[in-house]
Amino acid sequence: MEQKTMKALVYHGPEKISLDDVPVPQIIKDDDVIVRVTTSTICGTDIHIWHGGMPEVEAPRIIGHEFCGEIVEAGPAVRNVKVGDRCAISCVTQCGECFYCKRGTYSHCDTGSWIFGYMIDGCQAEYVRVPHANLGCHIIPEGLTDEDVLFVGDILSTGYFGAENGKIEPGDTVVVSGCGPVGMCAMATAKLWGPRKVIAIDLNQSRLDFAVANGYADMGLNPANCNVGDEVRKMTEGRGADVAIEAVGAKPTFDIAIDCVRPGGHVSVIGVFEKPVELAMNKLWIKNINISMGLVNANRIPELIGLIKDGKINMKPLQTHRAPLNDILKGYDVFGGKKDNCIKWVVTPYEK
Ligand SMILES: [Zn+2]
Ligand SMILES: [Zn+2]
Repeated sequence: MEQKTMKALVYHGPEKISLDDVPVPQIIKDDDVIVRVTTSTICGTDIHIWHGGMPEVEAPRIIGHEFCGEIVEAGPAVRNVKVGDRCAISCVTQCGECFYCKRGTYSHCDTGSWIFGYMIDGCQAEYVRVPHANLGCHIIPEGLTDEDVLFVGDILSTGYFGAENGKIEPGDTVVVSGCGPVGMCAMATAKLWGPRKVIAIDLNQSRLDFAVANGYADMGLNPANCNVGDEVRKMTEGRGADVAIEAVGAKPTFDIAIDCVRPGGHVSVIGVFEKPVELAMNKLWIKNINISMGLVNANRIPELIGLIKDGKINMKPLQTHRAPLNDILKGYDVFGGKKDNCIKWVVTPYEK
């Protein structure tokens, strides 16, 4: 029998990616589905993988983990979705039955949690196999498009997770250190708790302006032009921010978050670090701050879809670039190189 093939972006080792012809995935376990990818994205993590920053990723591997699609085949144990459903898919796989899933810490599901484009083949392809489809597939409601909900499975869930861990209260001052796509998702969701002010921090002035123009942040502060910590303290009766969210995963942005937070405040880290960072415990212990970090649990996707449907969150402006799978290598160059003011590169189906 002739094997069906499809186009997919394949990682072949550090700095080596190509658009290849590969076999179409098939159902392996009873609760798998096969999804025809209708829209996907390139994420910052994909760029890390491409550059060899995640050596645990085995080549050859199809990359990509943020996507929407239509279910074209479902295993016999799939109950919650059916062939023909349009879904947004969680980047964190949840079996629902292991020690961690039972406690809501889905990011540590015994069966793998974040797997797409990492431990198993991902979504920068025409089709993808989705394990544990009963919990991972979220039906896109009537009236919403892929573009409306595209980020719920990854960066919007991550931003929300960062805001939630920050334990924001109404009237709080929140700083978000890093104004990339994840940082802007943290800003937009931080506003759900009714803070007094959300302050974006980044060296890239055009991103700060973008965050303010789209209502994600109330104002931007650029460390190239001011001492950010001093400015934040000036705005908060000398105290500092109640909540500081780190959304890059680097020493400078982490140090700014630590400097900005007031005694007794919360630092919530959602950036992905490549190197260790030193903590000045000798100065910090007396500040009574809380620091949290971790991989998103992605357990708020239904609520996020509801908020999008009712107009409370709109992350569509982040979709600055859009092209079919045919042009994905250009996407890695432009998005990965932060060229052309690209914030998010959206991938549409392969055009034959
Ligand atoms: Zn991602
Ligand atoms: Zn589990």
